[in-house]
Amino acid sequence: MEDKFLQYIQSRPKSAKSGSNYVSGINSISKKFLDQNLFSITSPKIVEKIIFDLENNDKFMTENSKGHNMYLRAIKHYKNFLSENQDLNRNKISSLSEKQITNMPYYEGNTIERTIIQKSRNRNIVKQVKEGDNYTCKGCGFYFYNKIVEVHHLIPLSNMDGEKQIKKEDLITLCPNCHAIAHLLLNEDEKYKNRKILIDKLQEIYKLNK
Ligand SMILES: [Zn+2]
Ligand SMILES: [Zn+2]
Repeated sequence: MEDKFLQYIQSRPKSAKSGSNYVSGINSISKKFLDQNLFSITSPKIVEKIIFDLENNDKFMTENSKGHNMYLRAIKHYKNFLSENQDLNRNKISSLSEKQITNMPYYEGNTIERTIIQKSRNRNIVKQVKEGDNYTCKGCGFYFYNKIVEVHHLIPLSNMDGEKQIKKEDLITLCPNCHAIAHLLLNEDEKYKNRKILIDKLQEIYKLNK
């Protein structure tokens, strides 16, 4: 993260020369004022919260003004760097080709699935499906307080063009394990797009492992 941040700073004409100063600024803040390395935090929201706390920390503000505001500038650059990076990642996902998406390992595929489901006009549909399935995994019956379960799209979303409306019938509630298996099965054989065939197979696998 440190290297990427340095690259980011150096690519900005106004701050290019101070790149290494900002990096050491972040490292000093981590050491003196936080009990963790700031570069290990990748959520801009959390960094924003840290900035807020620091701005209300007298000791920090005194050191900051002695250093011509370097600390605050460094951490704010870091926050911007993280937010811009998030946008980059999002754009990357939407510009992926169909083939790339289909060949992705499960976890990444699942992130895409979630992003696209969230993006769809039916923001409530995921909740409706979970409710309809009683928050219970259709593969193995796993249930944990209306939590943990995920929603799987039977027809790979990479096969859909654009923001096509997602239908409830195409969604199924699965626990993370069964969801991972569902994607592996789907990679092997298209027949697992079929709800009944998928459920039967998941139940068979579950019984084998009991
Ligand atoms: Zn399950
Ligand atoms: Zn899925």
